[in-house]
Amino acid sequence: MAGAQERHFHIRWEDILGHGRQKEELRRLLSQGRLPHALLLSGPEGVGKKLLGRVLAAAVLCEHPSDGAPCGICPACRAMADAAHPDYCELEPELRGKGTKIIRIEAIRELTELAARYPVMSDRRVLLIDEVDLMNEPAANSLLKTLEEPPGEVTFILVTAARSALLDTIISRCMPLAFGVLARDEIAAVLARQGVADGQAAEIAALSDGSLGRALQLVESGGLERRDSAIKFLEGLQRLSMTTIWREAEAMEKWGREELAEWLLYLNMSLRDMLVLYEDGGSPLIYQENCRARLASLLPYFPERKIFALLACVKEMQERLRTNVNLRLQLEGLFIRMKDVSDR
Ligand SMILES: [Zn+2]
Repeated sequence: MAGAQERHFHIRWEDILGHGRQKEELRRLLSQGRLPHALLLSGPEGVGKKLLGRVLAAAVLCEHPSDGAPCGICPACRAMADAAHPDYCELEPELRGKGTKIIRIEAIRELTELAARYPVMSDRRVLLIDEVDLMNEPAANSLLKTLEEPPGEVTFILVTAARSALLDTIISRCMPLAFGVLARDEIAAVLARQGVADGQAAEIAALSDGSLGRALQLVESGGLERRDSAIKFLEGLQRLSMTTIWREAEAMEKWGREELAEWLLYLNMSLRDMLVLYEDGGSPLIYQENCRARLASLLPYFPERKIFALLACVKEMQERLRTNVNLRLQLEGLFIRMKDVSDR
């Protein structure tokens, strides 16, 4: 299963960014021997829930834990660090066509059978299910049964960014642990350690909405270039011709859904920043500090009512993008609607 593909796991609490209160609570429960047999880690994507779940698993499986922390040197800890502990298993959703994902009942059954087997190395098993909200109904019912009657010495760690999509009956069987977003400066510090230039690290951290995963993705995918393209689009909206609309829609269709979603996000952020600048040109509340002057120079062309109308166009497109639509036609439609607003 997944997890085994990665060579190394972090197994020290200190390696997990932020979430001090949650770490403390878990360590307290561990050292008092009161950790429940099922936990639900919920919170935004990319804030380190799964990484923290692995440290928790290491602490549960460790032979000589101290103060709720894995010792780091016993055979169980070494096996966890090598992502090879036989009593630890991670289940992730499988890919179904068109980029959608699902957890089927077969996968939950397999996991339940594993849970029933006597542990090999430690005195219990730890099973982590990532994106547990992607279970279909039979899978969810099967997991519920397992949580109600655990088949052996087992700790379940359920991880989700969409807690409300879970059955209430599953939630009520778990100890809930909610995670918030990470602080901007914490994210910027991690990016800087990875060699991202200081100014850029701060800017990407501000754009990441408190998700380290998203920040790293932005570094990798050239997120700032896409941002530049979104602002350029607003700058050119006054002069947008039909020929350009067709050409741009054709070019941007090739980006694919994820990159388009990112572009729309920047468009959305830029428009929201413009609204903030309307109120107060010196406001510290804008997302894109480095683009302050550029966005402010657009204000004479976009009265507030137009910005609100443009935001509505973008929001509609963001929703359509989630469904299976013809991207090129949708992009053409979006550009035409936005041009209409601008011309009005
Ligand atoms: Zn250990």
